[in-house]
Amino acid sequence: MLLADKVALVTGASRGIGRAIAVDLAANGAKVVVNYHSSAAAAEETAAAIAAAGGEAIALKADVGDLGAAQALVKDTVAAYGQIDILVNNAGTTRDTLLMMMSENDWDTVINTNLKSMFNCCKAALRPMLRRKQGGRIINISSVVGLVGQGGQTNYAASKAGIIGFTKSLARELSTRSITVNAIAPGYFPTALTDVLSEENKKQALAFIPLGRFGQVEEVAYLVTFLASGRAAYITGEIIRVDGGLAM
Ligand code: NAP
Repeated sequence: MLLADKVALVTGASRGIGRAIAVDLAANGAKVVVNYHSSAAAAEETAAAIAAAGGEAIALKADVGDLGAAQALVKDTVAAYGQIDILVNNAGTTRDTLLMMMSENDWDTVINTNLKSMFNCCKAALRPMLRRKQGGRIINISSVVGLVGQGGQTNYAASKAGIIGFTKSLARELSTRSITVNAIAPGYFPTALTDVLSEENKKQALAFIPLGRFGQVEEVAYLVTFLASGRAAYITGEIIRVDGGLAM
């Protein structure tokens, strides 16, 4: 068990990539907090699936874009499992439209959910991680869109590019404490987030993927488990694409 005796908090784990991450961390021995915002039934179902497979998990509601809610989430994690060793900042959303049409609310919602959540959750989790003096792992889910941009996604691209600078800076700040901070930049994975794209857009995206297929959510989860484990102790400040070669 790569993650025996570890406690992981995965934000936005009710479905999609976050759910796969929670399931794989638990399969490797971690006790997992499955965070969600509005999809309570899906989050409970994720926690139940983990338990059915012999793992340990609870579902906790919190809007990670809200500092107070993120602080309460971390407090409840420590109250439930005594510690926090692994924080996976996965929660994310889109409000796609051309900048000319983009409302202030479209901008604020995406920046708060995708980027401010990094500040909120890392700030809250650092205190118990540092107090424990056992190191730790922070893994942030960015996107290839943060690397190369995408028309109709100025808000999303800004949030995902922001995560990259945030990750590298925090990695430097925490380097003496054996807390590693890395980011993953997924390419295209069929989830609720990408379901909204037209068939035409999906076809166009596929044509640009050298490996010739979309990703499977488990292919992000396996990398998260590796980065969360002792095997990745010498990797920090890294941004790793999981994109079938899309943004190489
Ligand atoms: P998804 O299926 O839409 O899942 C998003 C998750 O985030 C849900 O569990 C949702 O929970 C949660 N969430 C949204 N707002 C939240 C908030 N304010 N507080 C707490 N949780 C919140 O999306 P996904 O495709 O799995 O995406 C997961 C991450 O990967 C995101 O950061 C996304 O940007 C990134 N990513 C995805 C792709 C892709 O192709 N799918 C590519 C690159 C990057 P509720 O329903 O309970 O709100």
